[in-house]
This record gives sequence, C-alpha cells and structure tokens, in this order.
Amino acid sequence: MQTSDRAPPPPVRGFQHLRHGLAARISRIAVLAGRHPLTVGALGTLLSLGAVGLTLVTLAAGRQDAIDHARDTSRSVISILSSDVQHNFELADLSLQAVAAGLRDPVVMNLDPGIRHKVLFERTATARYISAVTALDEDGNVVEYGAGTPPQANFADRDYFYVHEQSRDLGLYISKPYHSRLRNHAGSIALSRRIEKADGSFGGIAAVAIDLDYFQQLLDKLDVGTHGIALILRNDGTLVARSPALDDSTQFVVLRSPMFRRMLEGKNGSYEAVSPVDGRTRLYTFARIPGTTLIAAVAPAEDDMLAEWKGRSEIVGASALFVSGTFVVVIWLLAFALRDRTAMQSRLEHMAQTDSLTGLNNRRTLDKALLTEWQRMQRTGRELSVLFIDADHFKKYNDEHGHAVGDQALKRIAAGLERHLRRPGDLVARYGGEEFVAVLPDTGERGALNVAEAIRREIEVCHHAEGVRRIPALTVSIGCGTAGQAGDASLDAFMRRTDAALYAAKTAGRNRVAPAAPVDL
Ligand code: GH3
Ligand code: MG
Ligand code: MG
Repeated sequence: MQTSDRAPPPPVRGFQHLRHGLAARISRIAVLAGRHPLTVGALGTLLSLGAVGLTLVTLAAGRQDAIDHARDTSRSVISILSSDVQHNFELADLSLQAVAAGLRDPVVMNLDPGIRHKVLFERTATARYISAVTALDEDGNVVEYGAGTPPQANFADRDYFYVHEQSRDLGLYISKPYHSRLRNHAGSIALSRRIEKADGSFGGIAAVAIDLDYFQQLLDKLDVGTHGIALILRNDGTLVARSPALDDSTQFVVLRSPMFRRMLEGKNGSYEAVSPVDGRTRLYTFARIPGTTLIAAVAPAEDDMLAEWKGRSEIVGASALFVSGTFVVVIWLLAFALRDRTAMQSRLEHMAQTDSLTGLNNRRTLDKALLTEWQRMQRTGRELSVLFIDADHFKKYNDEHGHAVGDQALKRIAAGLERHLRRPGDLVARYGGEEFVAVLPDTGERGALNVAEAIRREIEVCHHAEGVRRIPALTVSIGCGTAGQAGDASLDAFMRRTDAALYAAKTAGRNRVAPAAPVDL
C-alpha cells in the first residue's frame, strides 16, 4: 500500500528551536548582567520600590472605598430615620390641622361641649410617644384637650405658643426641647399650629407633644458601629436627641464646637471631624428631615470604619515589604556575586593570555594574533612584519649573575619592547625563555628594520639608563621578516624564514639586526 511507503513525519523541530533561541537569549542577558551587575541591583531595587508603591496605592484606594462605603451606609441610615420621623410628624400635623380647622368653624364651636369634643378630635390620632392634641386660647389657657377634661393650665410662656402669636405664617412649628409640666417633667418637643379667629386675628394654638424618648429609642436602634453616634437637632443648633445620650454639660461642649455647627450650614453633606467629647475622628453625614426643621446626622467612628481595612492592610503591607525587601537583598547579593565572578573571569582570562614574569602576551595569544594578522594581510594585500628577538648568551648571563638577575633582564627587555611598539595593532609576546616576538601589521621591511634597530640599541644601553637600577650589560639579536609581496607559501614558511634571519644575526656575531632572506622561488 502506498501509505506504508510514506516517509515518517519530520521530527517536531519548532519547540527545540524555540528552546535553543530562549537559552541563547537568556545567556546573552546573563552576559550583559555580568557586565553591569550594579545596574542589575539598581533595576531590581527600582522594581521592588515600584511594587511597594503599587501596593501602597492599592491600599490607599481600599481605605477610600471603606470610607465611601461608610458614607453610603450613613446615608441609608439617615434616610430610614428621616422617613420614620417624617411619617409621625405628618400624622401629628394632620391631627393639628383637623383641630385648628374645627376651632375656626362657628358651626362646630356652637355645638354642645360633649359633641364638639367628639367632632373636634374624631380625626386625631395618638401614638405611644405622641400626646393628645391640646388647644390653647389666645391667652395660652388650655381650652380643649383630646384625652379628656382640659387641665387648668397656661402655656403662654412656651415658645410653641408665642411664636404663633408673633407671626401668622409659621405653619407647623417644632418647639425647642422642654420638660413637660403636665406629663411628669418628661423631656418633650411640641408641634404646634396657629388657630385664627374669623377676622384673621390670633385665636390660640393647637399643639401635640412628642416625648424625646421617641427620638432616643429611634436613634438607639440604629447600627452606627461600636463608637459611632447618631443625632437629631433643630436647624438652630439645639440638640433634640443623641445616641449615645449625653449629660447636659457635655451637650454644651458639643453644641459650641465648630464641627457640630457645620451641619447647620448646608442642606446635607459629609465631613470628617474630631469629636470634642472623646477625641475620636468620625465621618459626619447629615441631611434635613423633609417637611421639618430638623436635621438628622450619623457619624461612625473612623476606627470602626477602617478596622477591617486596617487589619488587611497590615498583613498585605507587611508581606509586600517583606517580599520586596528580601528581593532587594537577594538581587544585591546576586549583583555582588556577579561582579566578583566577572572580575574573577577577566582575571583568569588575563592570566590565560599573558606571561606572568613580563606581563607581555603569551605564546597562545601570539599564535592567535599572528593567524589573524596573516589572514588580514592576505585579504588586504598590505605588508606584515615580524621580529624575532633573542637575548645573546643568556645561559652564560644566568650563570654569571644568577637567575634572579636574569629575570630582571628579561623584564627590562619586555619593557623596552613595549616602549617601541606602541602603534595600534602592534603586538609583543614572550615566545618562551629568552625569546620574544613582535608583530607589526601594515609595516614594510624598512620600517620594521628601523624599529628592530631602535630596540636593539635601547637594550644595549638601557641598563645604564638613569633612574633605573643598574643591571649587567646585555644585548639582543633580532631577525626581521616581512610578508606581503615576498610570496611566502604559508604563515609557517614565513616564520621559518624570519627564524632563519635571527640565526643569521647570531652567527654574524650577535647584537645585531638581520633581515630575512628573500623567498626561494
Ligand atoms: P644565544 O646567544 O645563542 O641565544 O645563547 P643563549 O645562551 O642565550 O641560548 P640558549 O638557548 O642556549 O640559552 C637560553 C637560556 O635562557 C637558558 C635558560 O637558562 C635561560 N632562560 C630561559 N628562560 C629563562 C627565565 O625565565 N629566566 C631566566 N633567568 N633565564 C631563563
Ligand atoms: Mg634562545
Ligand atoms: Mg639566547
């Protein structure tokens, strides 16, 4: 069958290729990091700082969220509170309006007192905290009472009476808190409406009293957190109720504080302030209760609002700091290790390339450089010169002056060579023992012979140079070869030709420079 002859599918090379690519990239990055270890440390630190910054920004946003959430909750609480008060006030006002209308009606007023009472109060409602409607005549005497026989009493001194005497158009008036004279000194506020006579003159008032307990219980039921507070106050700044309740002296402090008075300025709002009572920071949210002259306010304590956020932030913040701190320490340890490794590597590389006695390039470096220059010469067609330098009678020199002095002499030869071979591309190496090689790219025979002669002369006299420790006299012989147009078959052949020149210099009496013989074609 044809399918069986088919070649197997080619191996999946894509992944391997990718892996090799990745490995190459990583090793390039590692090399780069090795070259700039301090940059690696600085980048790591910056990265860490960035991460810590990001965490802080997130935590700050979380704090704002917690505050916004508390404000929203306060608004809902105020709204529930307001509608309860509004509802009860509306009921009370309906009763007041019914009584005030009845008292103005001559038909009603001419009825028999028993029937008149029924007609007047049939549409009035009473609730647990709301007293029966009471009507006062223009002198403040009680004339009608919803709950039975009118008591003998006069309330001309109460604000809920005289404000209507003084002004026609107040509508529903909400009094300042007072202690009731009829109901056992119970803390109360009164709602009152003006009654007008047929000619429009002041004919007294209709009023209901509301126990302050009503407000207190309403506020106490609200959930404002462990250290939160809730308030109801009149728009003139008089406190109607506060949960938790305050004694009179503390109330005085609260009412005079500027943070409290801010509630009187706007229709509604929200602000943070420090309580003058307990020093706690709270988020005050307030709003007018619709249809009344009252303000409702709720103020959860910052500590309660942010308790959960604080707990979370402490854990997240501490973890972020710990992780980032550890990262920074690790990255710097790594950076220093990289720096040491790079330094060690370059020391080793240097050691592998140089000769330990003279500090010149060693033979291995020379071989590489020679090959490179040879190839360059072949490419460019330019000339390339090489000098073979060998100390004369160095065995004898060692024997006479000692090995240590011999070493000094070799160092001095090396220094002399380096002084003369300063052109870019020039290379000097210790070939071995007391032999040195100099490579002079782009240099013709004449130039090379000049350099060689200068070197020879310097070494001949340098042990007499001033400022340099005197060492016994020494000379060198130099073979000088130039490739380019010479037609050498190979680098090896060229080196042999140059070596032969050195040999020629030796046999001709030493302490001299000899040019290489032309190539035997
Ligand atoms: P020629 O003039 O023919 O070159 O004679 P030479 O004695 O210099 O040549 P030979 O090759 O016979 O001797 C080289 C000597 O160089 C042998 C060795 O003791 C000495 N030598 C080689 N390396 C060192 C070194 O590192 N330090 C010292 N002090 N001497 C060395
Ligand atoms: Mg030698
Ligand atoms: Mg020698």
